[in-house]
Amino acid sequence: MNQLADDCFNQVDGLMSTAEALAILQQRIVTVTQDRLDTVPLARALGRILARDVTSALDVPPHDNSAVDGYALRHDDLVADGPSRLPVLGRSTAGHPYGARLEQGQAVRIFTGAVMPEGADTVVMQEDAAQTDDYITVPPGLALGANRRHQGEDTRQGDVVLGRGQRLRPQDLGLAASVGQGALSLYRPLRVAVFSTGDELAEPGTKLAAGAIYDANRYILAALITGLGAEVSDLGILPDNAAAVREGLGAAAGGHDLLLTSGGVSVGDEDHVRGTVEALGHLHFWRLAIKPGRPLALGQVGDAAFVGLPGNPVAAMVCFLRFARPLILGLAGAVDLEPVLYRVTSDFDYEKKAGRREWLRARLERQGEDGPCAVLFRPQGSGIINSLVQTHGLVEIAEDVTQVKAGDLVDFLPFDEVAS
Ligand code: AMP
Ligand code: MG
Repeated sequence: MNQLADDCFNQVDGLMSTAEALAILQQRIVTVTQDRLDTVPLARALGRILARDVTSALDVPPHDNSAVDGYALRHDDLVADGPSRLPVLGRSTAGHPYGARLEQGQAVRIFTGAVMPEGADTVVMQEDAAQTDDYITVPPGLALGANRRHQGEDTRQGDVVLGRGQRLRPQDLGLAASVGQGALSLYRPLRVAVFSTGDELAEPGTKLAAGAIYDANRYILAALITGLGAEVSDLGILPDNAAAVREGLGAAAGGHDLLLTSGGVSVGDEDHVRGTVEALGHLHFWRLAIKPGRPLALGQVGDAAFVGLPGNPVAAMVCFLRFARPLILGLAGAVDLEPVLYRVTSDFDYEKKAGRREWLRARLERQGEDGPCAVLFRPQGSGIINSLVQTHGLVEIAEDVTQVKAGDLVDFLPFDEVAS
């Protein structure tokens, strides 16, 4: 069984860039889910992570077949500069091959996906051929091999079609099915416990006491984790009380690979999360040069990893997407940890401090031929949950940039890429 190295989040250096933080995570995170592999039917494998390569035992398609409805024939039989007339001897329909060999001067009615009769090399589309009685007339100009799909043109026997560490998308399931795999060998799901922290937090659906707000983060975070194919235990709200935090985190550590909290780790906060995790294991505050969201708390409680996200919902979600997400994917066995960012045109002017990376919530609007344009949501406060909802994703502005002008290209991380 693989385990995280002891105190693997130890980091004492000063301010860290996003790239440095991600590189350290990438280096130190190991797959912890290989202690149990699950054999899972395709229909239940979506979003899970492959523990073994999938190798095809066959060619796909397994036979040459027709790409269209028409007539299979031998190209050699066609007259080069005029119409050709051929007798139609039988049919090849999908799933029901023509049983015999196509001899010289013959044609066979054929349909899309039906096996090419032996001897036939070309298909004329039905729209291009005139049939009268049992004969077709084929106009000149048909290319050798036209409308014929080749055995193995999609997948060859022996090809590795899906790789270990790949997180399964709908089309991956289709590819596995096409090579005949009814079930896949997957890492067991990562087990993640999610807590919110704060005396002010109340469960939605209950009455709000004076000074209270509803807990939003746990619903964002639990759903994001589920979307990564992990198993979430929603462990509720921890009060700002050292004994309760110790009790909650301590009890969860045994049955989970990762404990994820939000809130309670900002500067000036009462030290319940910090003190507790330090007492139970290790805790490090990574001073990230980012906005919104620093610091990020990383540590270990028993064998479980610990991530403490900021409390403000926007900061919690941004930090989850950029830091906790790759960490979770890495622990779960995925090889592809980083999301793809796209370049879009800025619709806004923006000034920022050098030396830190910033994420702004923006809507994409299509404007003209230069592709989508990012329109900033306002206000951008890190407590504004609507800024996550009324937008399509995050504009990511690099450390060295101090000024964005309308018309500049900016990096954009669509929520659909990472949060669905
Ligand atoms: P903290 O990091 O605990 O100081 O929290 C920072 C801000 O985020 C405060 O305004 C909290 O009330 C708010 N906050 C913390 N946790 C949550 C949560 N689960 N849902 C909504 N707001 C939260
Ligand atoms: Mg708090």
